[in-house]
Amino acid sequence: MSEFDLIRDHFSRLGVRRADVSLGVGDDCALLRVPNGSELAVSIDTLVAGVHFFADTDPEGLGHKSLAVSLSDLAAMGAEPSWATLALTVPEADRAWLHAFSRGLGGLAAKYGIELVGGDTTRGPLTISVQVHGLVPQGSAVRRSGAGPGELICVSGTLGDAGLTLRLLEAGEPVSAYLRARLERPTPRVELGRALRGIATAMIDVSDGLAADLGHILDASGVGAEIRLSHLPLGEEVRARVSASADWGLPLASGDDYELCFCIPEEGCAQAAALAEQIGLGVRVVGRTLERAGLRCLLEDGSTWLPRTTGFDHFSDGC
Ligand code: ADP
Ligand code: MG
Repeated sequence: MSEFDLIRDHFSRLGVRRADVSLGVGDDCALLRVPNGSELAVSIDTLVAGVHFFADTDPEGLGHKSLAVSLSDLAAMGAEPSWATLALTVPEADRAWLHAFSRGLGGLAAKYGIELVGGDTTRGPLTISVQVHGLVPQGSAVRRSGAGPGELICVSGTLGDAGLTLRLLEAGEPVSAYLRARLERPTPRVELGRALRGIATAMIDVSDGLAADLGHILDASGVGAEIRLSHLPLGEEVRARVSASADWGLPLASGDDYELCFCIPEEGCAQAAALAEQIGLGVRVVGRTLERAGLRCLLEDGSTWLPRTTGFDHFSDGC
């Protein structure tokens, strides 16, 4: 199979056909129309075999995840996904693998109304980069820098599921279908992100653990925060682990959650809760921003939790 056959057979018609694509796969560039009054939001993420996923990972799930992690960035700005490009490096042209991978990627692209408009295909160690493009009304994207002191800090979904799954897989222990899906097929919180435009003052997607990612909001906004560990949203299995071991590092500092963390003034809380309910996604208030810099994590009795391991930058002041 030539490179061109491979592209034609697997990547020439992925996702939906969009009216704003003047030219898609097939020429030197794609040509795309950004409507007047919109800003183009662009983000790229790379997944490397052996670093971000096991080389024998189910290819359909991998196709899904490689788009999902980029869409999570668009969600965190409140952007509406529109187009994607794919830079794919594969060790060989394995038809069955390519078919499953493109089905996973194309399925998620179709779900969010995205058209795959171009890319690059090369031979080498398995590496997948997906760039996503989204639209947002001018000036309305939610940045990391807009939080002020005294606001509520909220988190969607549950934290630590993917981190626990990875630990179990590495230990050769059994993994429930729910946990496996949380690691291998994350759901980008696109609808929630879009709904929070004009309500959230700052937002980020949680990909490196809540402590680190909330830390980015705090740094960019010039505020500190206090979070209550008992308020963290946890699934059953993570809750059982944390109860048994008091290892709050699992929900605070393991990666791949792809939930949204955002700040809102207290008066926006009811509106955010109503929106989350409409979308059918849980949102929890986990703490508050403060004037004083640093992140403090409080246990039930009001004492400060100290992590067993160091290396989480944002624990350095406070926790
Ligand atoms: P060029 O030589 O200009 O880089 P290529 O031969 O790499 O072009 O690609 C031919 C066409 O196929 C281009 O339109 C490119 O965007 C598209 N393409 C290549 N690889 C992929 C891919 N993995 N997914 C989607 N489109 C791709
Ligand atoms: Mg090329």
